[in-house]
Amino acid sequence: MNQQATEQTSLLTQARQRRSPFSLPALLLAGACSLVAIGQPVQAATVSAPVLLEHVRLFDGTDTPEQEDMAVLVEGQSIAAVGHNGAVKAPKGTKRINLSGKTLIPGLISNHSHVGVVSGTKIGAENFTAPVIKTALDQYERYGVTTVTALGLTKSPLFDDLRKAQHANTDGADLFGVDQGIGVPGGMPPEGMVKVGKDQIFRPSTAEEARQAVDTMVSEGTDLVKLWVDDFRNGVKSAKPLPVMKPEVWQAVMAEAHAKNVRVAVHIHDLAYAKKLVSAGADIIAHGVRDEPVDDELISLMKSHNVWYVPTISLDEATYLFAEQPALLNDPVLKAGLSGDLSRQFSDAAWRDKIVKSPLDAASHKAVAMNEQNLLALYKAGVKIGFGTDSGAAPVRIPGFAEHRELRLLVEAGLTPLQALRLATSQAAALLNLSDRGVIAPGKRADFVVLEADPAQNIAAVDQISAVWRGGVRADGPLVPR
Ligand SMILES: [Zn+2]
Repeated sequence: MNQQATEQTSLLTQARQRRSPFSLPALLLAGACSLVAIGQPVQAATVSAPVLLEHVRLFDGTDTPEQEDMAVLVEGQSIAAVGHNGAVKAPKGTKRINLSGKTLIPGLISNHSHVGVVSGTKIGAENFTAPVIKTALDQYERYGVTTVTALGLTKSPLFDDLRKAQHANTDGADLFGVDQGIGVPGGMPPEGMVKVGKDQIFRPSTAEEARQAVDTMVSEGTDLVKLWVDDFRNGVKSAKPLPVMKPEVWQAVMAEAHAKNVRVAVHIHDLAYAKKLVSAGADIIAHGVRDEPVDDELISLMKSHNVWYVPTISLDEATYLFAEQPALLNDPVLKAGLSGDLSRQFSDAAWRDKIVKSPLDAASHKAVAMNEQNLLALYKAGVKIGFGTDSGAAPVRIPGFAEHRELRLLVEAGLTPLQALRLATSQAAALLNLSDRGVIAPGKRADFVVLEADPAQNIAAVDQISAVWRGGVRADGPLVPR
């Protein structure tokens, strides 16, 4: 292990030790603890006794209806067997955990988040550090989000090192994503608001600069390329539009990325840009269309080009949610992810008043309604839908909490709770081309969440996390100490 990896490991250990003091007794009570689960970073080679989760209600992440009284055998990092209770043979020495009354779902997967941008109420280059990112990945995991895709505003080697570290251990969410991403000089992402380091974003003005930016990202090991194509008015008619990326730049990015076998995710807000970018070869539309209803032209383009769509409805809700609903501050599920600074901001009546009276507040309500309507139309038309929130890009987009809000908003839009969960599990894994997760089936990673209640009855059950497992290790839980 090299020096850098050693430092990362010690960071992982520190992060684990900072965890809630409630997790250890809970682990012991559940009988789920092993030496690896209670203190040390777990490396891929760790061998622990098989575990049989018994008498559990199972949502496996697919179209299959929930199944009652199931058993799931975990061996090492993987699921070894799934079946009706009594039908799964467990090897000698297997630990048994009775999950009667609880529901097992696959770990949640975000296709659109950010890391190392925000800490507390502050946005800035100073947050692009391993400890800030590790703290966020721990928080995602506490909320049952076991895989996170950071869509830009990072840079390597730190980002690439952290991705590799998270692939190899089970402490905090697994991490994938985009290195810097491709923005616009004087445009998106707005420099005055997203105050990341100048080296955390490319802003090419020519096709040649755009190709070089893609080549740099690919050489750094980026999983995807990201583009921002938006004037950043966010539905506020009086807002001054920012300059938008030129077609020759986005065309050069797509051509270069595809030549290197890397897919391109695009930030859009408006229908017209969604159509242009899908026509130009975008692989993932990374936000919902929020200016007008989607039409048959976009639907047929999305389907014929086989493009993924990630609505991120909670992004706009987060603009007003905490200002309009101060009672949420008493919600233990929010408290589990709230920094002191952010809590003070939400408690500040002057801050709340300013938000509520801003033109963006009214525009954000409209954006949520339009995003929900469009998501349902695209879902019903059979367009491939992923799951994401833009959590971590702004202080109000709270890692983990945002993903729970997104599930509620997908249901508010008209999906059933299990349809919403399917997007956040098997579909989100498929978007990432990850065949090792997103469903609970033999051979898949043992990444899952144990819920106290049945999410099919009420999606709010996702808040009632009893335990989070990642890579065969009980990593967290309960979310709210009992
Ligand atoms: Zn984003």
